[in-house]
Amino acid sequence: MKDLVIIGGGPGGYVAAIRARQLGMTVTLVEKEAVGGTCLNHGCIPTKAYYRNAEIMRDLSHAEEFGIAVAGLKFSMEQAWERKERIVKTLVSGVEKLLADYGVEVIKGNATLLDQNTVTVSGGQGDRSLVPPEQKIDAAHILLATGSTSASLPILGLKLEGVVDSTSLLQISEVPPRLAIIGGGVIGLEFACIFNSFGSQVTVIEYLPAILNLLDREISKRMGVFLKRQGITVHSSTAVEKVERNGNELLLSAKGKKGDLSIPADLILVSAGRRPLTAGLNLETLGIATDEHGFIKVDENYATTVPGIYAIGDVIGGLMLAHVASEEGITAVEKIAGCNSRIHYNAVPSCIFTFPEIATVGMSEEECVSRGIKYRVGKFNFAANGKALTLGETDGLVKVIADEDDVIRGVHIIGPHASDLILEGTILVKEGVKASDFVGTIHAHPTLGEALMEAILDVNGQALHLSPRKR
Ligand code: FAD
Repeated sequence: MKDLVIIGGGPGGYVAAIRARQLGMTVTLVEKEAVGGTCLNHGCIPTKAYYRNAEIMRDLSHAEEFGIAVAGLKFSMEQAWERKERIVKTLVSGVEKLLADYGVEVIKGNATLLDQNTVTVSGGQGDRSLVPPEQKIDAAHILLATGSTSASLPILGLKLEGVVDSTSLLQISEVPPRLAIIGGGVIGLEFACIFNSFGSQVTVIEYLPAILNLLDREISKRMGVFLKRQGITVHSSTAVEKVERNGNELLLSAKGKKGDLSIPADLILVSAGRRPLTAGLNLETLGIATDEHGFIKVDENYATTVPGIYAIGDVIGGLMLAHVASEEGITAVEKIAGCNSRIHYNAVPSCIFTFPEIATVGMSEEECVSRGIKYRVGKFNFAANGKALTLGETDGLVKVIADEDDVIRGVHIIGPHASDLILEGTILVKEGVKASDFVGTIHAHPTLGEALMEAILDVNGQALHLSPRKR
């Protein structure tokens, strides 16, 4: 009998497997596709590989500003795809090697729960010769890390050819001249910026009044302005009613604030959220409870309603991010091993790879208001930061929220390299640092980090490169 069987080899499952081996457990990991899960194969990594292509395209299209003439700029989707595939393969084989080096037994196949100590595996994708028709694995503990998949919408025509989810969009070999995106959330907007830079005419249709509706409202509003400026059309408060095929093109009908819309497109991406991947696991038979959306319910130890069975990552909902899945995987196996670990959910950074990037950690102004927390805000625009000017990337700002005790509760960045800058904000929020205690933390010059420093100083009206506040 193994100490632990993990179902799902995404960033939740494979990291949990490594940590469990470090803690001395015997571990089997079952994966039906490729290790790395959504993140490495269909999510974070492939999109960020394309993001880099898009970034280079944008830089080259502004090259004249830097006195550089670029003639005959061409983009090959096929070559970008090949580069992306190479990166994914490198990372997947790196994870395979790590798991082997740690002595994790990896079984390729579809796992099902037989009872609270037994998992059965039947042939999945990959090398089927490795798996007998059905294999039983006994374990003291089972960890479910089966992740999520794209959610669908009850809209007529979404099964038509040319209507795709994010996984299929990552496989296309030609840039669609017109791309319509249903959903103005993180995934939808990352693709909007990427394909706009590749040359597509992009239209985003969002049902809610605001895009990126979970973000601090000031940040999402600014993003709306930046999207418009780069030529991306956003229809918010707009409900898609149906999609039809009209010869070579698709026709998307929607009802918006100003009446009916008819949007022609060559390709339509549906990015309306993610749903838990639990089909075939046998949850109901075992009595593993799920919520109304199908996410597995867990307690503070990541234990499900069945003793000995745990769940982490996207399949339990909440913050559906790769680093959250990993942290939950680590914490769950540490709890199984008897450690007193916990996750600081109040300090989870979240990055959005749009143009410009967005990165946030902690509370938004709206959250402070809804929780009745009195707060002060400090801000600093990248337009006044020397490094941002040298980069030619002056759009955006850093916004810091501190409570009435001066404790930094939230950091929100929209601007160049926001995803790198948020590291410092994460430490400040996690450690509950006071804005006044931050004074004296020297930031190298010229760096983008100086914008964060000035925003923190601005909480108490002490920013040095801002004119005195009129209070
Ligand atoms: P997954 O990564 O989904 O892994 C689950 C694994 O379980 C899969 O490999 C699956 O094949 C396997 N599995 C499922 N059922 C079974 C079964 N019955 N038997 C055997 N194996 C099974 N997050 C970020 O933090 N940053 C980003 O930039 C980012 N970008 C994203 C872009 C896109 C387009 C998408 C779709 C997601 C993105 N995410 C990003 C989210 C991130 O990918 C997920 O939060 C993360 O992968 C969740 O990890 P997980 O281990 O819970 O599940």
